Amino acid sequence: MEKEPWKIESRLAQIGSVEEPVTGAVNFPIYQATAFRHPKLGQSTGFDYARTASPTRKVLEAAAAKLESGDAGFACSSGMAALQTIFTLFSQGDHLIVSLDLYGGTYRLLERILSKYGVTATYVDTNNLDELEQSRRPNTKAVFIETPTNPLMMITDIEAVSNWAHRHGLLSIVDNTLLTPFFQRPIELGADIVVHSATKYLGGHNDVLAGLIVTKGKELSEEIAFLHNSIGAVLGPTDSYQLMKGMKTLALRMERHESNATAMAKYLQTHPAVAEVFYPALPDHPGHDIQSRQSRGNTGIFSFKVKDARYVEPVLRHIQLIAFAESLGGVESLMTYPAVQTHADIPEEIRKAVGVDDRLLRFSVGIEHIDDLIADLGGALDAAIKEVEGSSQG
Ligand code: PLP
Repeated sequence: MEKEPWKIESRLAQIGSVEEPVTGAVNFPIYQATAFRHPKLGQSTGFDYARTASPTRKVLEAAAAKLESGDAGFACSSGMAALQTIFTLFSQGDHLIVSLDLYGGTYRLLERILSKYGVTATYVDTNNLDELEQSRRPNTKAVFIETPTNPLMMITDIEAVSNWAHRHGLLSIVDNTLLTPFFQRPIELGADIVVHSATKYLGGHNDVLAGLIVTKGKELSEEIAFLHNSIGAVLGPTDSYQLMKGMKTLALRMERHESNATAMAKYLQTHPAVAEVFYPALPDHPGHDIQSRQSRGNTGIFSFKVKDARYVEPVLRHIQLIAFAESLGGVESLMTYPAVQTHADIPEEIRKAVGVDDRLLRFSVGIEHIDDLIADLGGALDAAIKEVEGSSQG
């Protein structure tokens, strides 16, 4: 692989700025075209039909591949489209080992759709090599990891699991949505495929739905290229442009997300309404050491449990700056209630056994001023205690 001369901050800021040779436009333009003229029979400009390749998307895909230290990038119409494209690598009878705590939509895709095609999954604590070994079957084809997991922030040692996977001829696939290549690059730690909901930190402004896949190795890259084109869940030119525009400021945003989230998590640990905070940046988090080793920084999202489930409704009613909404990774702070939103499709007994219960809130900390965020959530938690205690006494 060619060594990159620039640091990641510079490469992010310069995405698409040298690829337009005709006018020298520093922002690569939106090529709003689906068909491309052939110079003559048997010749192509490299672009024939936009599902297969399109100029704006191609610049984004090349940037994504480099940022994640992979060989090829693929831009999809959503994170779920990216996941579906990857899972289509597998055939009837294949088995996957998957992180126990993971985004509810990924679980739904595996359990409600992939299962219809005879692809099965076993959910384990992917940081426990004994559990991985016990769940491995002759037909196991891959390990799929989220680290940190959404929403409980469990950490998996990517290098250890990828080594284990390769010893057994399995693929190692990592969902890197929560840390982004600015902080963590799973391919450098041995993963074969990285996937993103680019809707989140990469886009960064809650305004573009997108997914990215980055692959390592020629054969795997060709297989995904075939599936990407054949399935057709590709990203359009305008969204590709929007995503690149967001990615240019990724470094600045991630630094601010991390510092705000760390301050917020520390504050919540001291609040009387809060029972537990799940954030790998905190030294007492069980995944803290592994995370510090494999990632340059911490995500801007964490979850916490309030002491009484009755606090949840007033907290969501009283927050004003922080929006009660279902996403993460944007500049605007969002609060999510996983039990009824992102993880509602996971059966209640499984969800609760993992720890996604009725007291859990997920906080995607934005880039607002930290004093305003603390005042907003602190005030809402104080109000919740008052209301619940008032009603218990009354
Ligand atoms: N992976 C993770 C970790 C997510 O949080 C999400 C969405 O929340 C997805 C994948 C799916 O991405 P999208 O909503 O862009 O389809």
